Amino acid sequence: MATIVEPTIFELSSPGRTGVTMPPPDVPTVDLPSKDLLRSELPLPELAEVDVVRHYTRLSKFNYSVDDGFYPLGSCTMKYNPKINEDTCRLPGYLFTHPLQPIETVQGNLVLMYELQEWLKEISGFAGVTLQPAAGAHGEFTGVLMMAAYHKSRGDTKRTKMLIPDAAHGTNPASAGMLGMSVVTIPSDERGNVDLKALEAACDDTVVGMMVTNPNTLGMFDEHIEKVVKLVKDCGGLMYGDGANLNALLGIVRPGDLGFDVMHFNLHKTFSVPHGGGGPGSGPVGVSERLLDFLPSPLVGIVEEGDEDIEPLYGFVTPKHSIGRMKAFHGHFGGGLVRAYTYIAMHGPDGLKDIAQYAVLNANYLQAKLRGTYTIPFDRICMHEFVAEGRFEGSDVRALDIAKRLMDYKFHPPTNYFPLIVHEALMIEPTETENKDTLDKFADALIKIAEEAKSQPELLHNAPHTTPFGRMDEVKAARELVLCCWLPEGYDSEK
Ligand SMILES: *Cc1c(COP(=O)(O)O)cnc(C)c1O
Repeated sequence: MATIVEPTIFELSSPGRTGVTMPPPDVPTVDLPSKDLLRSELPLPELAEVDVVRHYTRLSKFNYSVDDGFYPLGSCTMKYNPKINEDTCRLPGYLFTHPLQPIETVQGNLVLMYELQEWLKEISGFAGVTLQPAAGAHGEFTGVLMMAAYHKSRGDTKRTKMLIPDAAHGTNPASAGMLGMSVVTIPSDERGNVDLKALEAACDDTVVGMMVTNPNTLGMFDEHIEKVVKLVKDCGGLMYGDGANLNALLGIVRPGDLGFDVMHFNLHKTFSVPHGGGGPGSGPVGVSERLLDFLPSPLVGIVEEGDEDIEPLYGFVTPKHSIGRMKAFHGHFGGGLVRAYTYIAMHGPDGLKDIAQYAVLNANYLQAKLRGTYTIPFDRICMHEFVAEGRFEGSDVRALDIAKRLMDYKFHPPTNYFPLIVHEALMIEPTETENKDTLDKFADALIKIAEEAKSQPELLHNAPHTTPFGRMDEVKAARELVLCCWLPEGYDSEK
């Protein structure tokens, strides 16, 4: 297959072409600053508007998105993002405000943020919520900072260990590690639950707490979650919930009720904010009563109570022992918070519960269709996703080959090689937004690919065959990393 070589915008440049016509200045001209403050040259591409539009439109067609088709990327919750979100986040009242405006002039924005805090509290069962963190991992870091601050405030300085199951997302150990904690890995048992014996052995008075994803990355709801919480609390630890994937729990289970102390939400997964190159993340964090005073500042609160005639005044409040600011201004307001608010308002409590039930139904439907063709190592009723093995007896086909071949069938591949505890993992999350036709076509494609793996393995090893770019050389890409496609003439990378 011929690989298309796309010129860069710089290679398309031609001296003298221009995309803008500047009007004559309507302000007095001034002299330029002294020469030593100026660059001698600024190499920018020179193109007409039409060249730029065509270049980027062509490139955009090589892309695949959730608006193109099915995107079952496990753990990433690539659900369809309703277009009404785009209308609301562009309402001029939200779009043309500045975070430093006096609070009296941005009451609408503050009410939206306050209500979103309240809704997330209600959905999760927590006592307080910060909207500041910029993404899931940033929310984890915020949550772990609060856990550390809590122990420190009690003079409990021995605690340095964070317990993390082997099925955890890589960001969990990274967040604990960034705060200098040592990570103790807790294995999973044969049903995909936290191994209680191993947990019991690890619990002592040096434990900061435990970070648990439930449902975990195998798509399993931990059958002993209450025992897990109790073991950790009995040794004085705090429970961190990784709530990136709350899709299976909405309206059904509240992590706060299960005894978790802190949890981040990924508004860009569960609450339909676009992600994966499509938009900003947003990782609010909820806390239980005992961590309330440590929340980042500022939070949105009512600063002057109203009465029958006067609306309350919304503004910013600082928790008593706040860990401080986690983000410039107030989180990703328009791109994240307004869209998530719209999504929750549009669904209401019953609609949110429907989301969870359809997400779980769709995942179980696919799991049932693929059982028999693919090995499912933790084979029980799953939640929003499940993990299959991408390998077959007597075949050298790997999960990567299956993933690449799926692209020829016009599907985005599932997550590969994660979680690490499954050989050749294919982690499939259909989400609630897909209909039965799509699920059937996807299952048919995977079953067909399993046949191809036996009859024509080369077809899989060399896939994809129908995309603008063929199989990438992963080793070369890692060894000869080029992050910038164009460097100014005379640029010396050694300097
Ligand atoms: C996506 C995800 C994260 C990290 O979220 P980011 O917004 O990508 O930082 C953490 N944990 C789990 C389980 C996730 O799926």
